[in-house]
Amino acid sequence: MRSQTSSQANLTRARAAAFKLWKELGDPHPREVPLEKLAAYRNAFVRYGSMKGAEGRLIRKNGIGVINAVPSELYPGKTRFTVAHELGHWELHENTSQFLCNEEDMRDYGRSPMEIEANHFAAELLMPTFYFRKSCGREFPSFELIGKLAAEFESTLTATAIRYVDISRHKIVLVWTYNGVVRWSYSRAEFKLPFVLTNRPPPPFSSATVDESDAREELDRYEDANWFPELSRVPEVLELTKRMNNLDAGLTVLYFP
Ligand SMILES: [Zn+2]
Repeated sequence: MRSQTSSQANLTRARAAAFKLWKELGDPHPREVPLEKLAAYRNAFVRYGSMKGAEGRLIRKNGIGVINAVPSELYPGKTRFTVAHELGHWELHENTSQFLCNEEDMRDYGRSPMEIEANHFAAELLMPTFYFRKSCGREFPSFELIGKLAAEFESTLTATAIRYVDISRHKIVLVWTYNGVVRWSYSRAEFKLPFVLTNRPPPPFSSATVDESDAREELDRYEDANWFPELSRVPEVLELTKRMNNLDAGLTVLYFP
């Protein structure tokens, strides 16, 4: 990913830590190993229970880690991602004795280096490259496909979409809009795709802003939308947005054909 904050995050180290852990265990599919067992193997113990204002917590004391995760009956993938994220802090950030992480931290791909690292660790842990690449196939990107992958790997839609951008062969900029402004955009560095500027609303007439009744269900051209007003030439782009009305949020795929 290319942004000021994420360049301070060591994504390679974060992913490598999860990769190494699976290698040690002989590369099983992550669904074959209960996450709690995997954490215990690394001296971290998982508990579930409600917490105020947080989704997950890690406490590090005398070489033992205690992970607290808020369980979500409706979205078990979310619970798994929380545990994997806290395990990421445990593996990567040994000089910090406590982390308290909220919903936004679990979707942070552009703000705090430690949260970004924990998220990339969790992604590699829940969706190892080898298995994920096999399941990606060669289909055109869609939220149906990303949803299927999220179900197979029991992860969240956002984390799976990020993983999809990293691993599929398609050129995609993924954009997260929250409370009416773009919070981050994510793309694979090697494709050198343009940035979507953050902290401003998504463009009018785009899949993220049109009336829901006018939004299309598949990747499509929105002729009057310009995600890159700072560029002298508007790049050709197809787009699709998944609205999350309960969060006043949206996840947009910008696809470069
Ligand atoms: Zn965190």
